[in-house]
Amino acid sequence: MGANEALFERRKNVVANGISTFVPMTVAHASGAVITDLEGKSYIDFGGGIGVLNAGHCPPEVVEAIKAQAEKLIHACFHISTYEVYVELCEKLVELIPHGENTKVMLTTTGAESVENAIKIARQATKRQAVICYSEAFHGRSMMGMTLTSNINYKRNCGPFASEVYRIDFPNFYQRGSGLTLEEFSIKEINKLESFITSNVEPGAVAAIIIEPIQGEGGFNIAPKSYLESLRKFCDKYGIVLIFDEVQSGFCRTGKWGAFQHYGVTPDLSTWAKSMGSGMPIGAVIGKQAVMDAALAGTIGGTYLGNPICCAAALATISVMEDKKLNERAIEIGNYVTKRFESMATWAECIGDIRGLGAMVAMEIVSDKTLKIPHTELCKKLTDKCLEQGLVLLKAGSSKNVIRVLSPLVITDSELERAMNIIEKNLKEVIGEENK
Ligand code: PMP
Repeated sequence: MGANEALFERRKNVVANGISTFVPMTVAHASGAVITDLEGKSYIDFGGGIGVLNAGHCPPEVVEAIKAQAEKLIHACFHISTYEVYVELCEKLVELIPHGENTKVMLTTTGAESVENAIKIARQATKRQAVICYSEAFHGRSMMGMTLTSNINYKRNCGPFASEVYRIDFPNFYQRGSGLTLEEFSIKEINKLESFITSNVEPGAVAAIIIEPIQGEGGFNIAPKSYLESLRKFCDKYGIVLIFDEVQSGFCRTGKWGAFQHYGVTPDLSTWAKSMGSGMPIGAVIGKQAVMDAALAGTIGGTYLGNPICCAAALATISVMEDKKLNERAIEIGNYVTKRFESMATWAECIGDIRGLGAMVAMEIVSDKTLKIPHTELCKKLTDKCLEQGLVLLKAGSSKNVIRVLSPLVITDSELERAMNIIEKNLKEVIGEENK
């Protein structure tokens, strides 16, 4: 039995089955955009630990910052004593991701925790309870996160879920926009929201609307700019807190610190985690001061939130992102990947759509281009074959028929080219096998 299989055996004996395995591989160590497994096989990483490694695996500057901070202070609890690295990180976040004139921050440990706290803050700020969320949304595995999440596979038999949560259709232009311009489609979708509140929930009872500007797990569906502009107006009209979940789209992934910065639409609150700390458990809720400060002392926080080592890792990660100009690099990567996907689409009938913002690029695999029927099986065959040949590639979408690119942004040109060649070659093969 090889080292990989042996570890899987040990895992099977002691690790709960509910912890799913998206990719059947092990990892011994990783650097930049390359992962090495227990048997010494290397993989180009197009998954980035699900969008966590925009600054790469183990950036030396982050490793150094972690070590230096560990020698000074591992834990204090920010409720007990104020330490500088927490405040410094909040100052940096306010500088990079302002929400209007006065912005405030709370640090968290995970994406779900950021979402959970954003909802608590919105409820306190409005003294209302209802929350509106979207189809295909993913917001985490806490009770509120799970309730807001759309896909049943993440929540089967986990109820009862949180009450006063209402779901509307995500403005998915590829699925439902045929024959319309983006603007017409947005008008139609916002009108649907108006009629939804007439028949489902009193707008005066709605605390927040939470949306991913680009859905991550949902398949990299991009909310049209005109939709988010109208949504902003809708929230202002009814005094509803607008929350953007940037957990997957944040920190250079789309070529900006946050995807919302492409839109010229500022949310009241936003949620962050993943690539913020290069893998250390840190996240944030960032928001307009008036909304953030509505939360009463004691109602938000926790023992480990904004742990000093995690704060130091986040500050070092941000400085790597600035020094290496990863926002600009994300645009280059996105352009290259899109070009390669488009060239595959000239011969691959199964590519129904190619979409993205910056380096958050996806292609949707379908069995029928007109009807847009998901081709889950072909997508799985493709990712399995790519893995065999040394490329970690993740799927997304409710039907798991979307190939998504979440590679570290420090990936070299030659690694990127090699990865795209692997996708191209294997796509040809799986189509060939299907047509036999
Ligand atoms: N929101 C979004 C948009 C996400 O993509 C995720 C994680 N995939 C989460 C929230 C939850 O983050 P975490 O797993 O860190 O709790």
